[in-house]
Amino acid sequence: MFNIIIFGPPGSGKGTQSEKIIERYDLTHISTGDILRQEISDNTELGQTARQFIDRGELVPDSIIIGMLENKFNALQKSKGVIFDGFPRTVDQARALKEMLNKRGERICIMINLEVENEELIDRLLKRGETSGRSDDNLETIEKRIKVYESLTAPVVDFYKNEGCYMGIKGEGGIDEIFRKICMAIDTKRMA
Ligand code: AMP
Repeated sequence: MFNIIIFGPPGSGKGTQSEKIIERYDLTHISTGDILRQEISDNTELGQTARQFIDRGELVPDSIIIGMLENKFNALQKSKGVIFDGFPRTVDQARALKEMLNKRGERICIMINLEVENEELIDRLLKRGETSGRSDDNLETIEKRIKVYESLTAPVVDFYKNEGCYMGIKGEGGIDEIFRKICMAIDTKRMA
């Protein structure tokens, strides 16, 4: 399997680029944000708990997220690989993912970090908020999410640098131009 993590702050384009990567490489998409939003709209117990954290711009606790991710991964049909989008968001999640993949003789082949300046992130997320209907795309929550990213999520970068699969890519500019750089990074890893 060719497993990818698409990483970066909120608004860096993870979802947009995931769609394009999936189409080109025929991978299975696992987005923890999408799973949580589905749980909320299904009004499950998990969804009700998660909503409180999401609306405050905080992370849903690792204990909830790791179990949820493992269930989703175990239920996967045979696949050419998985693209993890919005996960891992803490170093403990990264460790749990490594263990989960190890058990199956799998690993992360490349971690792509989309690098975007904060000012641009805020602009993009406010714009998205006009149409997304997402409860967390408002200025106060956006600022909180960026702070949480910097303190809890950014350290995940070092974890994957140590794993030897890190690739930073500038996430500003045209969508297709960014996608082209991502494909070059993926193809180089696939050939290695
Ligand atoms: P996203 O759609 O990836 O921007 O996620 C939206 C929100 O869902 C985040 O701000 C968190 O509150 C929650 N969330 C999504 N993925 C995770 C994760 N891996 N760990 C903790 N919380 C998460």
